[in-house]
Amino acid sequence: MKENIYTIPVIESFENGGECAFCAMHEKLTQDAIDFMLGNAYMEDDIRMETNRLGFCKNHLEKLYTQQNRLGLSLIMHTHLQDVNKTVKKLLTDVDKSKGGLFKKTAESKTAKIVKQINSLSQSCYICERINNTFDRYVDTFFYLWKKDSDIKNIVKKSKGFCLNHYAVLLQTGEAKLAPADFNEFLDITVPLQIENFQTLEDDLDWFIKKYDYRFVNEPWKNSKDALPRTLKKIQSVDAK
Ligand SMILES: [Zn+2]
Ligand SMILES: [Zn+2]
Repeated sequence: MKENIYTIPVIESFENGGECAFCAMHEKLTQDAIDFMLGNAYMEDDIRMETNRLGFCKNHLEKLYTQQNRLGLSLIMHTHLQDVNKTVKKLLTDVDKSKGGLFKKTAESKTAKIVKQINSLSQSCYICERINNTFDRYVDTFFYLWKKDSDIKNIVKKSKGFCLNHYAVLLQTGEAKLAPADFNEFLDITVPLQIENFQTLEDDLDWFIKKYDYRFVNEPWKNSKDALPRTLKKIQSVDAK
């Protein structure tokens, strides 16, 4: 892989600071995907076929709904609902009325299979897939830069590290993609960074709590004012401001 369209967004996400550059990339991809969906994308047949098939997860439906494009979202949901109705109608007319005897306990019942298929209808998401495809390229690009470009190492050293979820992704991908020496260097740089930044966050949140105590009311806030949203991001990648 050479420098590509993914290099700049990866580097820029580190430059903007914050608790996790990969959270910043993910948030930008999410906003872009929502804007894309409610732009003119839903009028294109190939995209509509995919949204009809995959639908949307709860999180992204809520995000789409808050964008106030009621007609656009209604059009998208109408044809998706047509697909869902076809599937559900077929599944529900297939539900087995006989509950099955004790001897059937070990085998999966017909109803249990239908329950699984109904659940799978609400688990796939066009926007999640769209985001994940690009996000995976960002992770690949990060390790490509790590292998060939020492700048990214300095950029990482100056950052606040990563949230729990994305550091786990980086550990797993780094182990698979980097040569042993490169992976060791990755650990040498990022493990102390993670430990130090999680401790700083704990101290900041501790100070934020103390500021509610009348004895500290006249003390400065230090770096604690946004300690709570930063903690939510660090622990669970929450897009909190
Ligand atoms: Zn993150
Ligand atoms: Zn989703």
